[in-house]
Amino acid sequence: MAHLELKGLSVQFGGLRAVDGLDLALEHGELRCLLGPNGAGKSTTLDLICGKTEPTGGQIIFDGKDITHLQEFKRARSGIGRKFQTPAIFRELSVIENLELARSHKPGVLASLTVFRTRVQGRLKEVLELVELREHIHTKAGNLSHGQMQWLEIAMLLMQDARLILMDEPTAGMTIQETEKTGEIFNSLKGSHTMIVVEHDMGFVRQIAETVTVMDQGSLLAQGSIQEVENDPAVRAAYLGD
Ligand code: ADP
Ligand code: MG
Repeated sequence: MAHLELKGLSVQFGGLRAVDGLDLALEHGELRCLLGPNGAGKSTTLDLICGKTEPTGGQIIFDGKDITHLQEFKRARSGIGRKFQTPAIFRELSVIENLELARSHKPGVLASLTVFRTRVQGRLKEVLELVELREHIHTKAGNLSHGQMQWLEIAMLLMQDARLILMDEPTAGMTIQETEKTGEIFNSLKGSHTMIVVEHDMGFVRQIAETVTVMDQGSLLAQGSIQEVENDPAVRAAYLGD
């Protein structure tokens, strides 16, 4: 069974069909890059999946359940995490405080304080290793580098046990080194986390993706390996505006 399935998903803003009958299926642990020219409907697709925007048609199935009209906070609770372009971190708090806060916002974890503490410590260590922030736990989040802030936000989603992570242009504004490190983080999350990554940087896409999906004008234009879609005449036309 697919982890996430979109069936004929649509949303209309006034006369504009921003997402128009989109079908998409992601396996558990898969990383899918979502490509397409500006205005193709990529960000709106992520908004529909996380519940920020209400669809006007179609279905969203997550973990076998129809979540098409589920409220945004309930989707977050069920394991859908969204990373925004401006990281949702508390700049005045330290790295560790941000992570603890993220964890305490996960409903249900306070059931047993002892179990909670032991489990959280283990998870914290794992997550800090992954994003290489272990040496910076007492650093104010506002004093981190741009890349580190992005990784902290990813770490916060992991502390909330997000199992489907939606990322919109995560490497925007990053240095080459930060971009590569981000690719390593994503690659190590493969298998345990399902991810949709909207991205323009094709070098980065090559580092992380196996299958890519290309959207244009709200619909699916092409899907396949990077090489397949790069050689697809319809994809070339969409980018060149022919
Ligand atoms: P992408 O992320 O692929 O660049 P978007 O999903 O942001 O594209 O936008 C798709 C289309 O929908 C664009 O034409 C955009 O202007 C329009 N759009 C997005 N959000 C809204 C909204 N809230 N209200 C009206 N139009 C919107
Ligand atoms: Mg966008």
